[in-house]
Amino acid sequence: MTLPFTTDLLLIDGEWRHADGGATLPVEDPSTGLEIGRIARGTAADVDVAVRAARKAFDGVYGNLTALQRGRLLAELGRAVSAQVDMLAALEVRDVGKPVSQARADVVALARYLEFYAGAADKLHGTTIPYLADYTIYTLREPHGVTGHIIPWNYPMQIIGRSVGAALAAGNAVVIKPAEEASLTTLAFARLAMEVGFPAGAINVVPGLGEEAGAALAAHPGVNHVSFTGSVEVGIAVQAAAARHVAPVTLELGGKSPQLVFDDADLEVALPVLVRAGLQNAGQTCSASSRLLVQRSVYDQVVEALVSRYRALRVGPAAQDLDLGPLISAAQLQRVRGLLAAGLGAGAELLAAGEVVDTAPERGHYVAPALLGSVRPDQPLAQEEIFGPVQVVMAFDSEEEAIALANGTRFGLVAGAWTRDAGRQHRLVRRLRAGQVFLNDYGAAGGVELPFGGVGWSGHGREKGFEALYGFTTVKTVAARHR
Ligand code: NAD
Repeated sequence: MTLPFTTDLLLIDGEWRHADGGATLPVEDPSTGLEIGRIARGTAADVDVAVRAARKAFDGVYGNLTALQRGRLLAELGRAVSAQVDMLAALEVRDVGKPVSQARADVVALARYLEFYAGAADKLHGTTIPYLADYTIYTLREPHGVTGHIIPWNYPMQIIGRSVGAALAAGNAVVIKPAEEASLTTLAFARLAMEVGFPAGAINVVPGLGEEAGAALAAHPGVNHVSFTGSVEVGIAVQAAAARHVAPVTLELGGKSPQLVFDDADLEVALPVLVRAGLQNAGQTCSASSRLLVQRSVYDQVVEALVSRYRALRVGPAAQDLDLGPLISAAQLQRVRGLLAAGLGAGAELLAAGEVVDTAPERGHYVAPALLGSVRPDQPLAQEEIFGPVQVVMAFDSEEEAIALANGTRFGLVAGAWTRDAGRQHRLVRRLRAGQVFLNDYGAAGGVELPFGGVGWSGHGREKGFEALYGFTTVKTVAARHR
């Protein structure tokens, strides 16, 4: 496949241009380990020009559109994305190593986010507040101005949809810094946005390295809000940089999300979800369910069923659309292998593994999915986000113990519980420390309408649904005295 457009350019103020100094970075296909193209290596100077262009758009054409007009542009963009599902999915297959059906699902989700936020744009409004007799009080929901979006490599299209889509609907002008490992679909998205008529400067894209373009965006005093999804370490750095100019941030930093399986669960229904929720996108998912907590009375039965499912899993090139594709990079492969080896060395038991197919190119970043037992709750395998196809399964005796285990990490993104006992369901919902709780399900098919985000080290702020629109706006209170 030759790439369908020139990929080594930045989009600033409606123009495609080379990075300041002209440097580029390689684009690697994780399925083969081979270079398939180049992207621009944006600099702090590029970020500065992009932020200024966004400000001009916010103060000018884009900022003066009505909510209805913004919604219509987003709707048009959603249709353009839908019409390009083949092209966008093919790019993601090559750039991220995502199996074809998972890449196509991401395009559908991006289009759906744009549709949702298109419809929401003119339904976002303030309130009136009863107060003293001679006052009329109302609030205005106003965009922040220029918003910065630092995007990870694992779900570029979905995260563009949920953060950029919401920010634009709310009336902000945006500067996007895609991940250096996966910028192609963001560039394609921006091309479509230009084609459907987004004004110059409303959407700017500066690919590049995190420590260069990303750090410059987080630190730029002209950025009024930063939305970051990625690692805890970088999230802390981004928040610290934004704090220097008192800009709010939304942080989505991943998790160590549990699923709790009680002995009254419908195991037939639960089993495929237990595995899929941990291994989607080869486990490189912030909401991956990497811990399976199972009541001891059904533990052996559940483990036996999990083992047979794991043994049937096949890993291979993304284009073959198997259960799992490669990991994103050699570095990520090394990291996952290191955590696995350390865990096994510390006494974890490999209960079952999937299989990397023979046809997988040697230089691709493949790892067989692993199901691990005999892991202590305080061990790194039970505490650290592995971001690879690894699940640990642990037994519990009581509801109390299950909750303590579930809440026993610094993270708190998602939790799932499988039980048919209604009283227990309500107790769990109250006590599980997570931004989303699923009962007898996990993930709810994505649900762009459903607010998403974490507590604790999983971050703060909410994306998706209407909550994202509140996050990308600020409230102005108006008090009019009657005299
Ligand atoms: P990362 O946090 O380094 O990168 C995420 C984004 O931040 C990228 O766009 C990157 O260029 C940018 N970035 C990096 N350094 C920056 C800096 N100093 N200032 C501003 N922006 C910067 O994540 P990674 O290296 O891609 O992955 C490492 C680990 O992070 C993974 O193993 C995983 O645990 C976690 N992760 C989580 C998510 C998630 O969805 N929660 C996504 C990606 C990675």
